[in-house]
Amino acid sequence: MATSLSARFYGVGKELRLEEVPVPSLGDDDVELELKAAGVCHSDLHTMHGMGNQKNLPMTLGHEGSGIIAAVGRSVKNVSVGDRVGYDYIWSCGRCSYCLSGRENICDSKSRSEGTWQERIIVPARHVHKIPAGLGFPEGAVLNCAVMTGYHATKLAETKPGVSVLVYGLGGVGMNLLKWTKLAGAAEIIAVDSDEERLRVAKREGATITINPTERYPLEEVKRLTSGGVDIAFEVIGKTETVRNTLSSVRQGGKSVLIGQLWEPFQIHILKDIQFGEKRILSPEDHTKSEIYEVLRLIETNRFQFGDSITHRFPLREANQAVNVLQNRIGNPGRVILEP
Ligand SMILES: [Zn+2]
Ligand SMILES: [Zn+2]
Repeated sequence: MATSLSARFYGVGKELRLEEVPVPSLGDDDVELELKAAGVCHSDLHTMHGMGNQKNLPMTLGHEGSGIIAAVGRSVKNVSVGDRVGYDYIWSCGRCSYCLSGRENICDSKSRSEGTWQERIIVPARHVHKIPAGLGFPEGAVLNCAVMTGYHATKLAETKPGVSVLVYGLGGVGMNLLKWTKLAGAAEIIAVDSDEERLRVAKREGATITINPTERYPLEEVKRLTSGGVDIAFEVIGKTETVRNTLSSVRQGGKSVLIGQLWEPFQIHILKDIQFGEKRILSPEDHTKSEIYEVLRLIETNRFQFGDSITHRFPLREANQAVNVLQNRIGNPGRVILEP
């Protein structure tokens, strides 16, 4: 039986173990994907810290992946052996009312598959898409997470030309989000992060104002700079304090868009946070299938570039080191990639 070298998670506080696991058999609608790149993402770290589903341990982590089609099932039509593809980690059913209306991200039976921190994976063919010739495998891997999340959030918030936005947190998602808001025509883009290098990149990518919260209190600064608040405030960190600041940074009629994963309960004052000033709170989840193809077209036509967000690459066997780099922010990581 074929096996796949995998970085397996055994529980909180334990090192990942490199193990050969059996590759399941190929169904008629499946493809076998030989993975060439897999992203190490903060949401993987959340799992390693005990958040989310911990029932089926050990498991292979990782949700961002790209590679080459090694085999296709009998009914597969969208890809062929040898195609370079990206992997869509949102496993949707394709049949429920949400899927049928193009909202696979909130599918009734949405799940996440076996992870991408391994050599090969069996995937339903509808969850892979060809990537442009000029796009590297690492970029093809992170596309679906950091890039797509920002794109979906920008669309969900109906970011229109001329608006003022706040991007609170400039990790992989935040930096891409900033670029999308610029592409959507935001006139004023305020970027907040405690890392000077990230602020410098943000400025280059279109931020009109940058704020380092270790030097200036961002809430007061945002209010002062925008005469009362921004039209749309995106939170991309997921901490109580930054969510609080984000809600308070929005002007009357504006929107807060909460993207960072905050796992603790958070108290909202209905009157002050929402009703006075008719504000709205949105919280985008992942992305839809059609958005993947929209973004691929923007990449193919050179309207959107994001390769510079990838800062570290490790062979799969060094998965623990890769996790350590992201976890402890060693060498100021953007996106960290494993190469099986
Ligand atoms: Zn991710
Ligand atoms: Zn569905």
